[in-house]
Amino acid sequence: MAPVEKAERGNRPGEFALIEEVFAPLASGAEGAFALKDDAALYRVEDGCETILTVDAIVAGIHFLSDDPAESVARKLLRVNLSDLAAKGAVPKGYLLVTAWADDTTFDWIKRFAAGLADDQKRYGVSLWGGDTVKTPGPLTLSLTAIGEVPIGGMILRGGARPGDDIYVTGTLGDAALGLEVLKGRLSGLGHEDADWLVRRYREPEPRCSLGPRLRGLVHAGLDVSDGLLADLGHICETSGTGARIEKDRLPLSAAAKMALRQNETLFPLIAGGGDDYEILFAAPPEKGNEIEAAAGEASVRATKIGRVTGPDEGVTLVDGAGHAIPLKQLGYSHF
Ligand SMILES: [Mg+2]
Repeated sequence: MAPVEKAERGNRPGEFALIEEVFAPLASGAEGAFALKDDAALYRVEDGCETILTVDAIVAGIHFLSDDPAESVARKLLRVNLSDLAAKGAVPKGYLLVTAWADDTTFDWIKRFAAGLADDQKRYGVSLWGGDTVKTPGPLTLSLTAIGEVPIGGMILRGGARPGDDIYVTGTLGDAALGLEVLKGRLSGLGHEDADWLVRRYREPEPRCSLGPRLRGLVHAGLDVSDGLLADLGHICETSGTGARIEKDRLPLSAAAKMALRQNETLFPLIAGGGDDYEILFAAPPEKGNEIEAAAGEASVRATKIGRVTGPDEGVTLVDGAGHAIPLKQLGYSHF
């Protein structure tokens, strides 16, 4: 769409030069992107497959910190979307990008942002198919739509969990929330290595693309943890019409998170509810346990059994080592 007023460009090249110089190279891997010179992209779905779409927008100062490195912002934007595709069992193919540059977004920042995307395109096998670039009087705002494929009927839904299913989560929990605490100066006392590692987990989540497609046909329900373990488990239970019982002592923790908790156990709510984990949470029947273990091994992703799906009356319960329910209100979850 043409802007009502001509954009002020500062040190940035104009829209067309920016697309040609910085973004067209990101589209070179996709024939149907027409080097970003057409009005739309063309995408031919593999025979026997269907398309899975997801979109996320991030705003400076809200979803990322204004001084986060441009490369990290790019990776986070792409990866949170790839994480959704992975949790749905989809193989990522390409993406559309909308960028709304703030007045103070420099050309250098944009070039570093594109370099971050270029790295991740190679890592995850996707390319840029199209999008739009505008300027905004507000904070820097970025939106990315990711496109993936599953065999027809293969999408993993939120709503299929059944009582008796085992509940698993990939990777480790709470690292990103603790990393944000480090960046905000509210978590000191950790060694440099641990602190840096937590910050990286906040800035650059690792979408479980190698595992997601392998879970098709093995699991009843799944999603990626973005709002926090308990909230996202609540989403599965609500959609599936079930409850769930999670064992606190089984929650997978990184060495850095364990260290942080050892120093201050009141940080625990960040583990169970801090969010930004981008790990896959899924429910699977116990008889699939061996196949799930094998799939996780092939994908080189850790998957930990953390609890069980129950009947709807039990709601979402977190229990301690003795099997006693830990009141979630105590952890700050007023909506349970
Ligand atoms: Mg999600």
